[in-house]
Amino acid sequence: MANSTTVTANDCEPSLSSSVTHGKPLSVEEASAQLLAAARVIDGSELLPTMEGLGRVLAEPLISGTDLPGWDNSAMDGYALRAADLQASDGWLPVSQRIAAGQCGTPLTPGTAARIFTGAPVPEGADTVVVQEVCEPERDGVRVNAEIRAGENIRRRGEELHAGTQVLEAGIRLGPQHLGLAAAVGAEQLRVYRRLRVAMLASGDELVMPGEPLGPGQIYNSNRFLFRALLQALGCEAIDLGIIADEREATQAALAAAAQQADLVLASGGVSVGEEDHVRPAVEQLGHLDLWRVAMKPGKPFAFGRIGETPFIGSPGNPVSLFVTFCLFARPFIARMQGVRDARPPTPQWLPAGFVLSKPLKRRDYQRARLQSDAATGQLSVQRFHSTSSAALSSLTWANGLVLIPPGETIAIGDPVAFLPFAELVPGSVA
Ligand code: AMP
Ligand code: MG
Repeated sequence: MANSTTVTANDCEPSLSSSVTHGKPLSVEEASAQLLAAARVIDGSELLPTMEGLGRVLAEPLISGTDLPGWDNSAMDGYALRAADLQASDGWLPVSQRIAAGQCGTPLTPGTAARIFTGAPVPEGADTVVVQEVCEPERDGVRVNAEIRAGENIRRRGEELHAGTQVLEAGIRLGPQHLGLAAAVGAEQLRVYRRLRVAMLASGDELVMPGEPLGPGQIYNSNRFLFRALLQALGCEAIDLGIIADEREATQAALAAAAQQADLVLASGGVSVGEEDHVRPAVEQLGHLDLWRVAMKPGKPFAFGRIGETPFIGSPGNPVSLFVTFCLFARPFIARMQGVRDARPPTPQWLPAGFVLSKPLKRRDYQRARLQSDAATGQLSVQRFHSTSSAALSSLTWANGLVLIPPGETIAIGDPVAFLPFAELVPGSVA
């Protein structure tokens, strides 16, 4: 039976020096931690209009130059008055002025009310706003038909934050909400890290581009589209270097050129130990490469190294393996390089299994899964795709996440399983 401790525990013997081919496999946690520790934040930032900041990483804290709100203002459409004046009356007060949002009224004449609208400054002398729903216009004034609470419905100056407060910390990825807050404190520009330049290549003589004729033994280069879109979704500048032939010299030249132009080089395919795998020996020649054995499926082989000083990540050629290793390993690595302070591997949600696993697996498996809600009861359950083939991209379009199956365990309907929603893995992947 699955339980919440099985995933955080290592699935195999821990050993930090065991990442290369000869050693014992690394657990997913060890591999993630080692990769993240190797990631260096890029140098260089730029001032960007706040309007263009979506998805960028803030390079310095944003300090507010203003109180928010900047002055006492009405939280509702209604009437601004002095609570004591209303109490002293029979419930009726003359209306002496009208203040809409964007206008400034005049000090409130004692014994009167001001018609006021949401966001308008509360006039000097008023201490309460009465919502219009409990008021009735009567002659040239207003009748209040309810008990009121002195001070209600006023948003006080500085109630949210004061000038000098840090409103956004450095190292966050800017979402719509951050941009909105930056604008609310008047920030016209933000200092963000420059875009991370990521060179991407796909290795394989069998690859052709959609639109080209498909010869015998050839397949379309789907990884190029996956890579490029994943990088774009993370706000990287993708330097698309196309296809590299399965040939040693060409591979080496392409990788060396990639490392010159980019902060990070990603390649798909060609990192296994077969004689047609030219990426691995080429990187070894140009710098350093570790072929990681991570105790997971899919995901082998996964390579990490350097071409000169430029980090290199070699993903498996199979598209599903590429997607899974990108989400688990490359994405946090890229986020850290981009300047994200709390870059971390994805956090699973524990949800009831809607499937049975009667024969335990040997390795931790990241299967394609879908979170479903029962039409009648609303009960959520995790379903899994019928095939675990790491070549089947249709498993990813069927799924809306991955389910993590620990080794050595069976799963019954309703057992808690760890689900990684695509929304957590890939920005922009959900409707
Ligand atoms: P490799 O890692 O080069 O041995 O490739 C493993 C499998 O992934 C093979 O079936 C390849 O044909 C396939 N593959 C490699 N690169 C791509 C790609 N860019 N697009 C789609 N499939 C690929
Ligand atoms: Mg290949």
